[in-house]
Amino acid sequence: MLDQYGRNINYLRVSLTDRCNLRCIYCMPEDMTFRPRSELLQDDELKRLIPIFVDLLGFEKIRLTGGEPTLRENIVEIVQNIAQIPGVRTVAMTTNGVLLKQLAAPLATAGLARINISLDTLNAEKFRQLTRWGSVDEVWQSILAAQAAGLAIKLNAVIMRGFNDREDVINLARLTYDYPWQVRFIEMMPFAGISGFQQDHVVTELELKARLRDELGELILCHQGQLDGEARVYQLEGAVGSVGFISSVSKPFCASCNRARLTADGQLRLCLLREQELDVLAPLRHGATDQALRCLLKESIWSKPWGHGLAEQTVPLNRVMSEIGG
Ligand code: SAM
Ligand code: SF4
Repeated sequence: MLDQYGRNINYLRVSLTDRCNLRCIYCMPEDMTFRPRSELLQDDELKRLIPIFVDLLGFEKIRLTGGEPTLRENIVEIVQNIAQIPGVRTVAMTTNGVLLKQLAAPLATAGLARINISLDTLNAEKFRQLTRWGSVDEVWQSILAAQAAGLAIKLNAVIMRGFNDREDVINLARLTYDYPWQVRFIEMMPFAGISGFQQDHVVTELELKARLRDELGELILCHQGQLDGEARVYQLEGAVGSVGFISSVSKPFCASCNRARLTADGQLRLCLLREQELDVLAPLRHGATDQALRCLLKESIWSKPWGHGLAEQTVPLNRVMSEIGG
């Protein structure tokens, strides 16, 4: 399905819940209030909607996210249902890993192929401060369980100035000498009420690359500089894994953006950092046919905004990151 700028939009990120078992400081306030479950897309509604994206609109890749997707009841069945839709090439998930130790194997059996696990530091005390109550040991065990289950692993680290932009970055990058994972450094993005904090603390790709080169030597550009998803990928000499940079703030990748997002409460959002959304939940609950839903979705995807407006200081204020799904 092409949008008005000729981009092939074939990647759907589905937020399964706005709830989370952590409270990362760059993502949501500690006293976050969550939506009543009745306002969220139910299992049968997802079962109806996702095939419309795949069969009728040509989407091929589905990523489950949140909030924390592993908190969703029936997560294994949800993965299995999606993996079985003809036309789905990949089912992936982004998770904080807290519950993954037990879930990695059943999820892989159900058809999950790839997993992105958030890990901003290997330092136990910093990890606790950043997530407000998480345990880095627990997440590490989950990463190993995901590896044992045969899942392709990427680790996501959001970098904040003065917090994890020095030895934490080096230690995370060092993991790629021993493990075949992609460690991705993400520039922090501004959202809603926490935007002041975030903008002050963004650390750019340029700055991180210089630090990595100083400490660990040359970074070898992979894939001839083509983006891997949203990441520009490099390898350290002698490493089995790779390091990626997701630089939405300093080097936006809007020109090649191929994604649409379905929020947990059933809104289609075409740009993470723009407030415009299409309400899909209401027509779904008011008896719209598959063809009518397809027309609505098609029109909205066609109008996907060109890109975000961070350079003009346009910050999305209607939702925090956990409500959209990252
Ligand atoms: N709970 C899951 C997790 O943490 O992986 C999935 C949802 S989370 C919103 C998805 C991704 O967004 C995570 O990798 C997280 O680190 C990232 N994220 C959250 N807030 C962010 C922000 N302000 N800027 C950049 N990335 C952010
Ligand atoms: Fe939860 Fe993920 Fe947001 Fe952290 S980044 S608070 S784990 S949704």
